[in-house]
Amino acid sequence: MNAATEIGAEEVEMFRDMLGRFIDAEIAPHYEQWERDEIAPRELWNKLGAGGFLCADIPEAYGGPGGNFALSSVINEEFSRRGYVSVGGGMAVHSDIVAHYVLNNGSEEQKQHYLPKMVAGECVGAIAMTEPGAGSDLQGVRTNAKRDRSRDGGDDWVINGSKTFITNGQHCDVVITVARTDPDAPGSRGLSLFLVDTNLPGFSRGRNLEKLGMHAADTSELFYEDVRVPAGALLGELNRGFVALMTELPRERLSLAIGAVAVMQGALQWTVDYVKERQAFGAPLSKLQNTRFKLAEMQTEYRLNRAFINECIDSFNRGELDAATASMAKFSSTEAQCRVVDGCLQMFGGYGYMLEYPIARAYADSRIQRIYGGTSEIMRELIARSLLDQ
Ligand SMILES: Cc1cc2nc3c(=O)[nH]c(=O)nc-3n(C[C@H](O)[C@H](O)[C@H](O)COP(=O)(O)OP(=O)(O)OC[C@H]3O[C@@H](n4cnc5c(N)ncnc54)[C@H](O)[C@@H]3O)c2cc1C
Repeated sequence: MNAATEIGAEEVEMFRDMLGRFIDAEIAPHYEQWERDEIAPRELWNKLGAGGFLCADIPEAYGGPGGNFALSSVINEEFSRRGYVSVGGGMAVHSDIVAHYVLNNGSEEQKQHYLPKMVAGECVGAIAMTEPGAGSDLQGVRTNAKRDRSRDGGDDWVINGSKTFITNGQHCDVVITVARTDPDAPGSRGLSLFLVDTNLPGFSRGRNLEKLGMHAADTSELFYEDVRVPAGALLGELNRGFVALMTELPRERLSLAIGAVAVMQGALQWTVDYVKERQAFGAPLSKLQNTRFKLAEMQTEYRLNRAFINECIDSFNRGELDAATASMAKFSSTEAQCRVVDGCLQMFGGYGYMLEYPIARAYADSRIQRIYGGTSEIMRELIARSLLDQ
């Protein structure tokens, strides 16, 4: 990856090796059980922190390893390429999204309080935008925060509402919560972000939701019933939450795109290995023209997306990745991921439908990529808007 050269390609590859050994020892032997349990154990977060695999590009001043986006991408890539996205997805929300919201929008006190604990895996982060009635359209957010000065000298906020589909919902210790702070402001104005500690009275978690794929990822409803937070829990500027969300989205979408190309790479490798072994009509599947042509098409689709995502990573590292291009990256790569994984599964025949084969899990896991982080339809809309200027 181009971005790796920034901190030295050799250093990045050493980090990749170290991570690979961690995955072989701590993830691979347990992953199927976690998928059956529909959750990974909480202690995994502490192990990931101790290994140096959380918040890779958080500065040393806040307890982080002080790496850059290349290191963060290596983590994303390795979990995706090897088929452990249920764990990698939660890590990306924690490290690539939540920690950067705090870093880029937080007060010095908030950064000192949360970031070192997030790096260590002592504090697991989540972000809660989506509600039962508001996903693509955040204008529909009904969770609200009201000032309460009734206590002596108090300037607390009291939060009420509910969220759904929240990644890390069962394990999280802090949730960046999108809430309406100005009921009179139109649409998405009047929204603010709050750092809500999950041990506060009035906060509760719903059940761990059953999903089509990503089984080991905990995804939950969250409930806020008169949750009282201090003024210092406001993250960023009052009523400017939507602007903060829009500013952070290119990084989130680029991360999803990096994961998408890594999943394609992994799926193609499993398939190449399989078709060389599997026999039909007296020869390996790899000798059939259909297998060869289909693999050639899928490899080309993977490489095209890889090249575009590398270009986006370079733009991001220069601070120049705009929202429309990030949307193209997410749209193109996640749609391609689903096509490629489907094409690969086909070559496994019936075995491809068996969950013990990683390609079957990848098929189920991939489907969400076209929905979360902004659906493919919303990506098309954003791209068209930038093109047509309307
Ligand atoms: C496993 C999982 C993990 C998730 N993790 C998180 C998380 O950590 N935090 C969080 O806040 N959310 C999370 N989400 C929620 C996710 O981001 C939303 O599901 C997604 O944004 C879509 O919102 P929705 O489900 O309300 O669908 P809707 O917005 O109701 O959309 C339904 C359909 O209508 C289409 N549509 C909507 N508007 C338009 C339009 N203007 N033009 C064309 N088509 C349109 C959509 O593309 C979609 O096809 C997660 C979801 C899942 C399933």
